[in-house]
Amino acid sequence: MGCTIMHDIQCLQRANALLAQAHSHAAMADLVRAAVARNDQWRGQQCINLVAAESPTSPSVRALLSSEVGTRASGGHIGRDNRFFSGMKNIDELESLCVELLKTTLRVRHADHRLLGGMAAVLAAYTALARPGDNVMTVPVIRGGDTSNRTNGPPGVRGLKVWDIPFVHKTADIDLNRFSEVAQALKPAVIGLGMTLTLFPLPVADIKGIVSPWGGKVYFDAAHQLGLISAGLFQDPLAEGADLMTGSSGKTFSGPQGGVMVWNDDALTAPVHEAIFPTLTGSHQINRVAALAVAATEMLAYGPAYMKQVVSNAQALARHLDLRGVTAFYRDQGYTRTHQIVIDSKPFASGREAVQRLEAANIIANEMPLPWDANPYKETGIRLGTVEVTRLGMKEREMAWIAEQIAKVLLHREDPMAVANGVIDFMKNHRTVYFCHENGLPR
Ligand SMILES: *Cc1c(COP(=O)(O)O)cnc(C)c1O
Repeated sequence: MGCTIMHDIQCLQRANALLAQAHSHAAMADLVRAAVARNDQWRGQQCINLVAAESPTSPSVRALLSSEVGTRASGGHIGRDNRFFSGMKNIDELESLCVELLKTTLRVRHADHRLLGGMAAVLAAYTALARPGDNVMTVPVIRGGDTSNRTNGPPGVRGLKVWDIPFVHKTADIDLNRFSEVAQALKPAVIGLGMTLTLFPLPVADIKGIVSPWGGKVYFDAAHQLGLISAGLFQDPLAEGADLMTGSSGKTFSGPQGGVMVWNDDALTAPVHEAIFPTLTGSHQINRVAALAVAATEMLAYGPAYMKQVVSNAQALARHLDLRGVTAFYRDQGYTRTHQIVIDSKPFASGREAVQRLEAANIIANEMPLPWDANPYKETGIRLGTVEVTRLGMKEREMAWIAEQIAKVLLHREDPMAVANGVIDFMKNHRTVYFCHENGLPR
């Protein structure tokens, strides 16, 4: 997004001043705990969180993140003779459970659990699939792409030459004719389909057909869509011909933050494993792995019902916003087939300004560049996601109420503090995390 590239020096100076006033090291620790507690109270209990990249975790996933296994070093591959350290028999068992659960959840032949984030997974993917100097084609940021698949992200680090996948203006469609022309000329080693603004499926099978004559690989970065894909509610990229897929485990998949990688082709197993270890990952945080394994069981049990409601809620939120005069884009295409929608920040000058106004009303979202924005660093879209509100038990009726609050802030310029008070009251009735073994389905 249109952020600067450095920390805000004033934030660091404020922290420095607080630490200087603390009269003991224990008091310094209290400062840290107090910031965590304030966030828990505000973001965790008093805000409507519509950030599309987040999900609340179940009680057992959260508990496992502080388990003893998280203190164990874990470098290497599963198995007694494949580890750097001894004493790993229980950890081999729990990591194997995680891999097998991921394979089942995502209906694939191979899965890996050691990626520390969706971003780390992207770097491992380009490391396994391409050599420095290779051409790759990816989605430009202005079309919903993500820096994780561009020159200033992992492909750049790997020394790859990044070219744009052509799009049709004003729809979210890839221009397959122009794509074919450009691809024939460049013979890219990898087509990277990674989108942070993801509303509709992509033509994976067509793309694979175009690039397979020269052995081009199709890599689908399902950072956002992993939960939808596991639940069968979005296209299944590997089944449609993609060679490799990665995803974030803390977005729609609703587990701990981290990364996942899956593939079917046995020939990819060696390069993928080598890229992950020893090249890019040391200890891979076994507490996170345990939490990921349990999150996979939640997706097996509740994923289809959960993700279906997520998509219905996104469509309902868009419809209710449109009805109230806040433009939700792509109406002709039904607004969305995912957990995301994108709305217009007008009459505010920029998405950033509108999002900050919503934040003052305890409604949390983020700005997004749109294909028709003249200046990609002054985005005019706002992306909203319905994963968190759905896991907290909300349905179409609550989407109407949320749309009303957004309209009050964006269109009617009501005092955001007054709206925030209503939001705080509303959230008192939405504290339970559903679609998990503890709490089952919402009523
Ligand atoms: C969020 C995102 C990532 C990064 O995932 P993290 O889990 O946040 O590291 C990578 N690619 C795309 C397309 C994303 O949207």
